[in-house]
Amino acid sequence: MENTENTKPLNFIEEIVEEDLRTGKNDNRIHTRFPPEPNGYLHIGHAKAICLSFGIAQKYKGKCNLRFDDTNPVTEDVEYVDSIREDIQWLGFNWEGEAHYASDYFEQLFAWAVMLIRKGKAYVDETSAEDISAERGVPTQPGKESMYRNRSVEENLDIFMQMKNGEFPDGTKVLRAKIDMTSPNMHMRDPVLYRIKHAHHHRTGDKWCIYPMYDWAHGQSDYIEGITHSLCTLEFEVHRPLYDWCLDQIADGSYRPRQIEFARLNLNYTVMSKRRLLQLVNEGYVSGWDDPRMPTICGLRRRGYTPESLRNFAEAVGIAKRENVIELTLLEHCLREHLNKIARRVMVVSNPVKVLIENYPDGKVEIMQAENNPEDENAGMRDLPFSREIYIERDDFMEDPPKKFFRLSPGNEVRLKNGYIIQCTGADKDPATGEIKQIRCTYDPTTRSGLEGANRKVKATIHWVSAHHAIDVEVRLYDRLFATPDPDVVEEGKDWKSNLNPASLTIIVAKAEPSLATAKPEEKYQFQRTGYFCVDKDSTASKLILNRTVTLKDDWAKIAGRG
Ligand code: ATP
Ligand code: MG
Repeated sequence: MENTENTKPLNFIEEIVEEDLRTGKNDNRIHTRFPPEPNGYLHIGHAKAICLSFGIAQKYKGKCNLRFDDTNPVTEDVEYVDSIREDIQWLGFNWEGEAHYASDYFEQLFAWAVMLIRKGKAYVDETSAEDISAERGVPTQPGKESMYRNRSVEENLDIFMQMKNGEFPDGTKVLRAKIDMTSPNMHMRDPVLYRIKHAHHHRTGDKWCIYPMYDWAHGQSDYIEGITHSLCTLEFEVHRPLYDWCLDQIADGSYRPRQIEFARLNLNYTVMSKRRLLQLVNEGYVSGWDDPRMPTICGLRRRGYTPESLRNFAEAVGIAKRENVIELTLLEHCLREHLNKIARRVMVVSNPVKVLIENYPDGKVEIMQAENNPEDENAGMRDLPFSREIYIERDDFMEDPPKKFFRLSPGNEVRLKNGYIIQCTGADKDPATGEIKQIRCTYDPTTRSGLEGANRKVKATIHWVSAHHAIDVEVRLYDRLFATPDPDVVEEGKDWKSNLNPASLTIIVAKAEPSLATAKPEEKYQFQRTGYFCVDKDSTASKLILNRTVTLKDDWAKIAGRG
């Protein structure tokens, strides 16, 4: 993607921000936040939300907080807190000051709840969860008021204190806001503000056994932190009246955070909910949260994605008000655009067959020079040893080729990338199976770079490695995790996991040029003619592992006619 930041029309959120700056709202402060719940690893959808909230702050010289929305101790864990911090920084963003936690505000939220009770705007309900839900009714008909709705302030305060002091078991009582049981917005029908959960919290320990609900915690946390623009996904649109109602109870009028919703990122061939990703991990469909097939930020990173490519993708997708599904091929396109600029070119033969160059002296080695990256003039050159025996791809040879096959076949010539032109003189086969054991060729000594035949044209150039110098590397050929564009479309009686792609990982051992011997984890390479690859974090000096990030074929550019 080209960076068209200065010429691009504003998205609707930028328009709101600029209008607020024009009118001097909130003393011209721009302060956003990213509020992950630490109950899983961040995924590409979060990356989009991160780029948006941090991006707005950057663009308008404001601030962006990181706030862990840790109000549900049962599913939350420090493991997730740590990974979330790491992922945001890896993406290239820094939050303002220290990270915040909704749990830091438990005391204040409790005090505000007591104040609500005192004002007669909240009550303790002992109705069961099922009955609360039944009484709430349906949007087209008014709900039914709870029999506990009109308790006295004193009684409410008394029971709420007992709830806090751990005197009741889980699920027996809740604190509800007293709003409007006839509201067409179901969220306004006396929403639950607090529930009892005797659970250990990863930060507050056993101090609390009542925990605030999202709606009571979120806007209040925004207010405490001085957030001006609270950007979230569309499913919170229906919560907005409640967000505002909660703020009305506490805000002093001089400043107000504003919630603005945007469409979440959906990608085809991908599932994104943390619940499902957790299932893939727990049930062993993938090796972990950072499996290179996962749409998590750590998975994408291990796969070979770069922060730049993800940021460019977020920019390319833009901000919408309506749900939509983005093509995975667009993400891959943004990835290729960046990798093309930074990935060092190397030659690796995935499915090797030996070639004997009959007129090349036995034992002789020549060092060829190869360009590391034609897209980057500072990338320099590297040495490539050439000798009498080399490997090429089995697919690059046909004994009995069709008309349009220009690569190696008996009598035909090809150029070895960065090396000589060779001509095939025949092939040796296994008499029993007919498998090609070795191809025989001669080389033209005048065709090396710098000699008079260097520019002689032949119809194909193929990659190769010197057999004696090649190193064996493990290559993990990753493909899409799902075989179908919408994993939710399933045959009767099956679930979304039936759409997993059984061929999403194939492991091979390939022959690589010797320069790869010093490759380090996370380094990016282009295997010429094949694809982009990234050194896996589990690589060791004795066993190099490379993950296929993406093939070279750019379907998005092709379809969009931008290739
Ligand atoms: P999931 O639905 O995947 O489990 P979540 O919404 O529960 O995710 P949170 O940790 O609550 O995850 O999300 C933090 C922020 O990221 C929220 O503001 C949320 O709106 C945003 N977000 C989550 N998923 C997406 C997405 N697919 N696209 C854009 N933003 C997202
Ligand atoms: Mg959430």
